[in-house]
Amino acid sequence: DRPLLEVKGLKKYFPVRGALGTTVQEVKAVNDVTFTLKRGETFGMVGESGCGKSTLGRTILRLTEPTEGQAIYDGRDVFDMTDAQLKAARQDMQMVFQDPFSSLNPRKRIGAILEEPLVIHGIGTAQERTEKVLDILTRVGLQAEHYYRYPHEFSGGQRQRIGIARALMVDPRLIVCDEPVSALDVSIHSQIINLLKQLQAEFGLTYLFIAHDISIVRYISDRIGVMYLGQMVEQAATDDLFAAPKHTHTQALLSAVPVTQPGARKERVVLGGEIPSPLDPPSGCVFHTRCPMATELCKQKAPARREITEGHHVACHLY
Ligand code: SF4
Ligand code: MG
Repeated sequence: DRPLLEVKGLKKYFPVRGALGTTVQEVKAVNDVTFTLKRGETFGMVGESGCGKSTLGRTILRLTEPTEGQAIYDGRDVFDMTDAQLKAARQDMQMVFQDPFSSLNPRKRIGAILEEPLVIHGIGTAQERTEKVLDILTRVGLQAEHYYRYPHEFSGGQRQRIGIARALMVDPRLIVCDEPVSALDVSIHSQIINLLKQLQAEFGLTYLFIAHDISIVRYISDRIGVMYLGQMVEQAATDDLFAAPKHTHTQALLSAVPVTQPGARKERVVLGGEIPSPLDPPSGCVFHTRCPMATELCKQKAPARREITEGHHVACHLY
């Protein structure tokens, strides 16, 4: 069974311009990331803010052009697509954004906001489009009467439901969810996450779920990739990752999560240093300035990614 998406050696560098417009440096926002998305699964991408997760999501959908690598969607490289092919693929690959407030046009009624993707893709008659909007509104937990309302009339959670509804309008197979709850009040996080889970089952969706909160990622994801300074340092099935985290960065992320089972053992892994500037990443292993296990080798040589048990990949000299 062919994966829905195969990302191979993806790099996205941003040039940083100095005085007089000369390119002085590059930010390696995404640096050689490889992973696959199986059909119907949720792949969680976790890491501190600024680690490149959002850029990775945007690059896969080609909202920004890659520097190098491939993103093979259903057998075809997104980065080789013509404009017409890309438009068709965009119908299949949607995005839910972190901030539903700024992604909704304040001057448009919800009905028009939701209908827009259908108009762009030339789908259905006016009546069919209206029916689709009403159907999707109820599926995301809103009501038909919301059709004529404006974004400012909704709460944050309702606005994110609208953002999710808009992504669903064109019957996508893949949705990139970029921190879909982090702008919302904590009290409604589980409502939105459970809605995403329910819609996934209903529509057979595949999710790339990006977040900095590993508890949320754990709750929704079948597999997890851990990012640090543009690199995916570890990836594994969710249970494997939590049972036996290998990379020190993963161990530190997990050890910061409160223990829920009584008697569960827990040693806090505390990191030294601060997150280095992506403009000046460390030599060798990008994590060595913070890793309590770092050796001389780590400063000099970048570790290769290895599969240590089936489906469990880690980039660290210890393995
Ligand atoms: Fe730590 Fe070295 Fe492993 Fe990097 S390669 S995570 S510095 S032990
Ligand atoms: Mg982000």
